[in-house]
Amino acid sequence: IASAPTRVRIAPSPTGDPHVGTAYIGLLNYIYARQRGGQFVLRIEDTDRARFVATSEQEIFDSLHWLGLEWNEGPDVGGPYGPYRQSERTEIYREHVELLLANGTAYKAYENAEELEAMRKSQLAAKLPPRYNGAHRELTAEQIAAFEAEGRAYVVRLKVPVEGETAFRDELRGEIKFSHNNVDDQVLMKSDGFPTYHLANVVDDHLMKITDVIRAEEWISSTPKHVLLYQAFGWELPKFWHMPLLRNLDKSKISKRKNPVSLIYYRQAGFLPAAVLNFLGLMGGGMPAGTDKAVQAEIFTLPKMLDEFKFDRIALGGPVFDLV
Ligand code: GLU
Repeated sequence: IASAPTRVRIAPSPTGDPHVGTAYIGLLNYIYARQRGGQFVLRIEDTDRARFVATSEQEIFDSLHWLGLEWNEGPDVGGPYGPYRQSERTEIYREHVELLLANGTAYKAYENAEELEAMRKSQLAAKLPPRYNGAHRELTAEQIAAFEAEGRAYVVRLKVPVEGETAFRDELRGEIKFSHNNVDDQVLMKSDGFPTYHLANVVDDHLMKITDVIRAEEWISSTPKHVLLYQAFGWELPKFWHMPLLRNLDKSKISKRKNPVSLIYYRQAGFLPAAVLNFLGLMGGGMPAGTDKAVQAEIFTLPKMLDEFKFDRIALGGPVFDLV
């Protein structure tokens, strides 16, 4: 059988200034797609209305244009296409949550804010990790009717199996396993009817026919929840690639206290986009220079990176981002 065309995406959340991490992951996805004649999709994950920053989306577009990381639906369609916006797709997530409620892999939980706070406090006091205690996993029809009669709001949670573990393959790390003891009954849909990141991300990756999820390693602990969701829907898994995080010299995750992390900073400070791209392309060791700083002084243009970057060369060490 002919395999599906490679489709990758970046899925930034418009919650502030466009981040160098978005450019780094964007570049890797762009290279991966272009090296395979594949398609690079841009999806704006804007369902967290509390963290939404109105100017952020345009800044993300501008930064990607500035760097020359054009998203589109494939080299032969004459893009740019998109972007997709999750806030315009809420009906799709609602329909999908109904499927999970119907097949019993998700459930409605009616705790109110005070009850959740009490749960959190008692877990804290018992030195337990803050976790949903499962109280509403098996509500009877009468209990549900009573909550509904009270007019209580509910969230929809993923019913993580009590026993066992979820395993998946990370293309850089091999098999990763999470015991279900360590996987919370994740909220999939909030009481305002908006999906959480986990639900919207998985539904979209499936509907958008994403073949390879290439994202930062901070999402590894979310992946078992995503794998459970794919299984709950009966969908095939994409490949997962979790890229080493950009780090400060002291190996902490890059933060604006130590390094400017906003792409706006680099634009305004007069950095050439090619220099920023080159620097990011050297993170992680996918170029022949590996992590050899001396060789890294060489300038790799985007076409050269498309020629020479190899994903199987990426090292897991945690590349130091010290462009300034
Ligand atoms: N919205 C997530 C972010 O802001 C996307 C993570 C992913 O690629 O799954 O990075």
